[in-house]
Amino acid sequence: MIKEKYNKKTVFSCEVFPPKRNDDIYDIFKTLDEIKLLNPDFISVTYGAGGSNSKKTATIAAYIQNICEVEALAHMTAVGLDEASLTELLEELKKKQVNNVLALRGDKPRAMTDEEFDNRYYKHASDLIKVINEKSDMFIAAACYPEIHPESKSKEDDLKYLKLKADLGVDCFITQMFFDNDILYRFLEDMRNAGINVPVHAGIMPITNVNLLGTSVSISVSSVPKKLSNLIAKYSEDPEGMKKAGTEYAINQVTDLIKHGVEGIHIYSMNKSDVTTEIYKAAF
Ligand code: FAD
Repeated sequence: MIKEKYNKKTVFSCEVFPPKRNDDIYDIFKTLDEIKLLNPDFISVTYGAGGSNSKKTATIAAYIQNICEVEALAHMTAVGLDEASLTELLEELKKKQVNNVLALRGDKPRAMTDEEFDNRYYKHASDLIKVINEKSDMFIAAACYPEIHPESKSKEDDLKYLKLKADLGVDCFITQMFFDNDILYRFLEDMRNAGINVPVHAGIMPITNVNLLGTSVSISVSSVPKKLSNLIAKYSEDPEGMKKAGTEYAINQVTDLIKHGVEGIHIYSMNKSDVTTEIYKAAF
């Protein structure tokens, strides 16, 4: 049970994603066998936009739960789900002994029209959280954004809906990636002042190659401090140097976060067990 993990100092979790090609599934199993050696408190598995790879998410979550014997947290998005498909998904996870979900809204998949997206059955993560709580005894995690969600009108608005998610039964929050710890510390204070007292996992993305800035970071719209952009400029032609510098940057972030008493660290592993292991061994 993930709930029971919060009686220790810092809860350690990480994220993996399903491979694009079916025949690469064994690569992720190998990665998980390696991450398992760190004894993480849970491992989360992403869900393709609009549920495009939900079967793989469930298969990988089952491997984490039953073969690695680590708590698995299966992501799911409101986009692409209705009452019947949500019930089916929850039943499938239960059958696979997966008792933890990360309930998200999701973004518009490329193949979906604006109209289809606007007419989705569940509008927000909060709608999903309410139903999951009514239908099951799942541990429920949700997303939060230290630099506010890009669609939010204001910080106050974002906090209002975060509070709604907490009040509807969220057991823990996982943050969007951030690269400046002071942003997180201010956000945690805002959350507590808004009466949100659910454990928060700080989401750390190690920038181990310069392309990540063009993909994951720009999607997340997280701000990049000068110290990190200088490293990226310095190692733009040196992949090994970037990997080392990006790992060190993440280690420094995690070390400082633990010193400041954050409840959880969540590493966006990008399916790289070596980097995850290095960060864990240096910072915990
Ligand atoms: P919501 O909580 O619904 O919030 C979205 C926006 O609506 C915010 O501006 C919020 O303030 C506002 N809002 C919230 N509730 C209400 C309400 N009741 N009424 C009106 N406004 C409201 N995407 C994937 O497709 N697959 C994944 O596996 C995945 N994993 C993720 C993991 C983490 C840790 C994070 C941080 C994000 C992940 N995402 C994933 C991306 C996520 O789906 C997007 O960021 C999406 O834009 C918002 O999802 P949400 O659950 O935060 O949405």
